[in-house]
Amino acid sequence: MTHADYALTQAHIVDTLAGEIVTGQAVVIRDGRVAALMPEADLPAEMTQVSLEGRYLSPGLIDCHAHCFIGGFDDGTSVLPSELTARAGMHLKGMLMRGFTTVRDAGGADQGHRAAVEKGVFTGPRLFVSGRILSQTGGHGDHRGRADTCHCSAEIGGTSVIADGVDAVRKAVRENARQGVDQIKIMAGGGVSSPGDKLIHPQYSMEELYAIVDETERCGRYVLSHVYSDLGIQRAVTAGVRTIEHGNFLTAETAALMAEKGAHLVPTLITYEADGKYGMDFGWSPENAEKNAEVLASGLDSLRVAQAAGVNIGYGTDLCWSPKRYQGDGLMIHQEVCGPAEALRHVTINNAKVVRMEGQIGQITAGAHADLLVVEANPFDDLACFGQHDNKLVSVLQAGRTVRDDTGLLAQA
Ligand code: ZN
Ligand code: ZN
Repeated sequence: MTHADYALTQAHIVDTLAGEIVTGQAVVIRDGRVAALMPEADLPAEMTQVSLEGRYLSPGLIDCHAHCFIGGFDDGTSVLPSELTARAGMHLKGMLMRGFTTVRDAGGADQGHRAAVEKGVFTGPRLFVSGRILSQTGGHGDHRGRADTCHCSAEIGGTSVIADGVDAVRKAVRENARQGVDQIKIMAGGGVSSPGDKLIHPQYSMEELYAIVDETERCGRYVLSHVYSDLGIQRAVTAGVRTIEHGNFLTAETAALMAEKGAHLVPTLITYEADGKYGMDFGWSPENAEKNAEVLASGLDSLRVAQAAGVNIGYGTDLCWSPKRYQGDGLMIHQEVCGPAEALRHVTINNAKVVRMEGQIGQITAGAHADLLVVEANPFDDLACFGQHDNKLVSVLQAGRTVRDDTGLLAQA
């Protein structure tokens, strides 16, 4: 825990961009960043050297669709925001210890969570927060039961805000921006867990979508949207939505539109696998389970379709009610489609593009943040090294500081 320069040596450096291992280079850390990669023989004699003894050094992983404020497997449903925030602290710590050094929260977490991490109140990853998710009445963010006629829309759902019509959606974006969110999350289609809507139903009128994008871009943010159906994706991307979350029913035609407009895809495939196992435990109806099975089956196809069209594909997890320890397991699903090197790009370089930090996170290069992982297996052989069962992660560095060290190697760092 010192600010002095030091060098990590004897590492197999995971070059996520090239998809290959680099050896013989020291990684010099200064002021929380990678100052340089240089031949080990050229290091100044006085510089502290920390040998990784042949272990693999990977950039920290990025999860572009997580929820630290939603969760609580096993705990029932009625929990006050204060307890949810305490739990968020626990979830954030878990994410960092699993090697996710940057997380984009896709709804629920707000500037307070981000500040808690930045001020050291919570141990957690760098956070990008979305605040409250915009949903239309009866949309995926409208959590009222059918018989519930309460109209206090601002309070419905907790993690979402119901906003209908151009004026209301503009105001909802402004409220989120006022409170310091990093990006604006919307529901542009039905979801797996909501009772009133179907996955194929596109939500929000084009007029509302255009207004949301306009309002969001004018305050320097971008829009991410929950959406499954091909038509829903098409409408969102046409209106200028920048990142498509889930996107399971993407067709080649719409993928081409995404590529043309520079839209990104953030699949969340692991959540369907986990929810398939645990859904009944947290009260899913047969209808929920049916929707889930449908999206799981189409998920792999959407990856192939997006890859063929040249869409930037990221990595998200969306583990809400299922255990968050599945966070790294989705990488095995991605690598089935495109191999470990490309899947590792999804969770590093490609996700860095999604959060607009290209070159600063997701790769080990001069000038990047020193968010680094020590792994006892080559990720290019099998990304199971980041999963929960064959995990080989032993140390985590955040901005050059050791936050987890199972080996004791980093005592001097
Ligand atoms: Zn969603
Ligand atoms: Zn989500």
